[in-house]
Parts: sequence; C-alpha cells; structure tokens
Amino acid sequence: MADAPKICGTCKKVIEGGKAVAAMNGHFHPDHFTCWSCKTPLMGKQFVDVEGKPYCTDCHASKICPKCKACGKPITTKATIALDAKWHQFCFKCKKCGKPMMLDQQFRVEEGLPKCLTC
Ligand SMILES: [Zn+2]
Ligand SMILES: [Zn+2]
Ligand SMILES: [Zn+2]
Ligand SMILES: [Zn+2]
Repeated sequence: MADAPKICGTCKKVIEGGKAVAAMNGHFHPDHFTCWSCKTPLMGKQFVDVEGKPYCTDCHASKICPKCKACGKPITTKATIALDAKWHQFCFKCKKCGKPMMLDQQFRVEEGLPKCLTC
C-alpha cells in the first residue's frame, strides 16, 4: 500500500524525498516548518501550537502569551483570570500582606489589585 503524498502545511506542495517534518497533525518541508511570526526554523526545536500555527517559544512568550497584570511578564502556565485581567497564579495576591488570593474567596479591590478582607 503506497503512502498518500504528504502535503506541506505551509506551501501546500507535495513533500518529496521522505524528509517531511510531522507536526501539528500535518507535514511540512523541513525549511517550511518555521515560526509564524519571526520565521525561525522550528525543526527539532520547541514550539507552541497557536490555533494551528507554529510559533517559536520566544515569539509565543513575547507576542501571544497574556501578560500578567501584576508583574507584566508573560504567563506561560495556566493564568488566573480575575478583575478583567490575567495573572500568574502566584501573582494574584493581596497587595498589602502578599497572601495568595483564591478566586472563590472574597476580596476587596484597591487600585485594580486585590486586597484580602483582613487587611
Ligand atoms: Zn513547503
Ligand atoms: Zn518566532
Ligand atoms: Zn505575574
Ligand atoms: Zn492581606
């Protein structure tokens, strides 16, 4: 049984010579599997799949990731969503005593930052 021809996900042409890069439920020419944003070749590198488009981890962190409202750094792990903003889980804490805030716990808001009821 012959394999179906592999079609490059970037240029949509057949990939000859068995050098296809298998990624994201498809195949790519080795030099066509690049970061959607900066065009860095991603073969053999870590990448992040954003809605079917590959991004290098740098572009993902600087352009795609939500930014934490408290520290301004990209959130690469699961974000805490509260007060119409996104936060690192460890950054969502009382602005006064630094105690981590649970989303199911009551808190006050002061200047856009959470503050626990005891403070
Ligand atoms: Zn291609
Ligand atoms: Zn990139
Ligand atoms: Zn943060
Ligand atoms: Zn507090």
